[in-house]
Amino acid sequence: MSLDSHIERVLWTPDQIATRVFDLAAQISTDLSHFSEPPALVGVATGAFLFLADLARQITLPVTVDFIRAESYGSGTLSSGSPTISFDLKLDVTGRHVVLVEDIVDTGTTMAHLIAHMESKGASSVSVCTFLDKPSRRKVDFQLLSKGKFYRGFECPDYFVVGYGMDFAERYRNLPYIGVLKPELYK
Ligand code: 5GP
Ligand code: MG
Repeated sequence: MSLDSHIERVLWTPDQIATRVFDLAAQISTDLSHFSEPPALVGVATGAFLFLADLARQITLPVTVDFIRAESYGSGTLSSGSPTISFDLKLDVTGRHVVLVEDIVDTGTTMAHLIAHMESKGASSVSVCTFLDKPSRRKVDFQLLSKGKFYRGFECPDYFVVGYGMDFAERYRNLPYIGVLKPELYK
């Protein structure tokens, strides 16, 4: 059975994703152009790997790229609560402008934790660039650090989505679009 046959509904196609990423990268390139130090793009592994790769290639400024891993999910579709950092940055972000690049912000718990972590490492400001945002599910209203900005690709309806980096039980990350699985597969 092909991967596509697991999907009930496509929410964003590869073309729609590419157009939105292009616009986000243009906005970020403009907003960050006045920093003397190259901004630090920090991808939240694993979900942000495709978004970060696409976004970074469209940003026209010098940037550094690094990854961080925060675990908050088991293998199901519900968050387990407080996240832990299981893989930390390699680069020093002291005095740097950090852009946290995320696949999706849901309750906001992970983002609040990551922003606090970047602050504790001495980042001079922290922005968030998430491809999807589910504001209807927010539990934690995270504050951006200093003059940080919030960028988002699309507002996501309250579905558990997969593709473009996002998984269900570690599968479907390689789908080039974002969709919803057939209900019988969410087990
Ligand atoms: P939060 O801490 O904001 O509740 O959740 C953040 C993380 O939960 C996201 O980075 C993502 O890994 C996961 N997540 C939240 N909603 C979804 C979803 O609809 N699909 C998938 N695949 N992961 C999600
Ligand atoms: Mg994530």
